[in-house]
Amino acid sequence: MKKGDLVLVKNTNMSTVLDIIRTAGPVSRAHISRLTGLSRSTCSVLVDEMISEGLVIEMGKQESSGGRKAILLKLNYEGGRAIGIKVMQNHIAAALVDLSGKIIKIQSRDFPKDSDKSDFIEILISVVLLLTAYEKNNTNKNILGIGIGVGGKIDFHTGTLIESSIINLLNVQIGKILEERTGIPVYLENDVNAFAVGEKYFGAGIHYHNLLCVTVGQGIGAGIIVDDNLFRGSHHIAGEFGHIRITDSNSATICTCGKNGCLEAYSSNQAIINYFLVLTGKKISIEEITILAEQGDKSALEVFRKAGTYLGYGISTLINLFDPETIIIGGEGAVYYRYMESEINRVVREDAVYGLAEEVEIQPVLFDDNLWIRGAAALVVREVFRKKT
Ligand SMILES: [Zn+2]
Repeated sequence: MKKGDLVLVKNTNMSTVLDIIRTAGPVSRAHISRLTGLSRSTCSVLVDEMISEGLVIEMGKQESSGGRKAILLKLNYEGGRAIGIKVMQNHIAAALVDLSGKIIKIQSRDFPKDSDKSDFIEILISVVLLLTAYEKNNTNKNILGIGIGVGGKIDFHTGTLIESSIINLLNVQIGKILEERTGIPVYLENDVNAFAVGEKYFGAGIHYHNLLCVTVGQGIGAGIIVDDNLFRGSHHIAGEFGHIRITDSNSATICTCGKNGCLEAYSSNQAIINYFLVLTGKKISIEEITILAEQGDKSALEVFRKAGTYLGYGISTLINLFDPETIIIGGEGAVYYRYMESEINRVVREDAVYGLAEEVEIQPVLFDDNLWIRGAAALVVREVFRKKT
């Protein structure tokens, strides 16, 4: 075998073992060997290397079947810190987290609507400096990276915000500038993708290899994880799920992208508000419609059902395309998901092929801003515990 091939095999084995410790830990070396099919000695060599790198630590002992006590291994979540930043309209929320995603300190800042590139960068840097100073004055652990999630078209590899749906800026090299100014590696990702990575590393997706995170609310998007890796596409826009055409009739609302017939124009907050207006003549907020649904109001329940029909069409398409193990529903729409759920399940049962509806678990996660910040921090954790293939 060539040297390059040997390195590849070792890295593949390393990432397999690391993944077992992350998802099944605490585990013993013998258990890792059984789960991976790798020999005991190979596992031991790999584990020793990970311990020396500070990725894995030994903890306690467990009675094994042979009577000998086995040392258990787990990831070293205290091995460093990460900063996660979520960019919202006129607002930045950031957090210092440990490597298990536990939030240690939150900081947030508003920024004016007319902020230019340098204002925006300065605000990002000020938040990072506050969090790094906090860490220095407390446990003083190494900050291993800054993960940033922002809506729009992002080039992950160059850390460039090409075009944003949230802020009015083009081609900002956020990664490069922030790295130069702070000396900390920066990982920039589309916000829905960051959310999906967060769910994969810390949340409802931890035990899955193929998962989709669908975000519902003001917009509709999807983060796609195939064989443990985020799928970004060739032009940085994979997952623009809200803009798949769902019908050829003219929509009640023109989509934010300017087209008619997009899923987002049929199942987003605005679509639900418009349905309610058409049905009742009342223009009220999505929160008010949700409260009415809670009280059993027939019109409110009907508009959620209608939005659920279209979302069900979209989700069936995703299931037929990707055959995922699970679909996680996030975003602020997760709050009213329960009023769409039975309709979505009905459509998916009809439209998903090969009985996949029975196999794919669709699970909403409660809307929480911290999930999005933690998702951004997961971009760093992914690099620390990365699959080395
Ligand atoms: Zn659209």
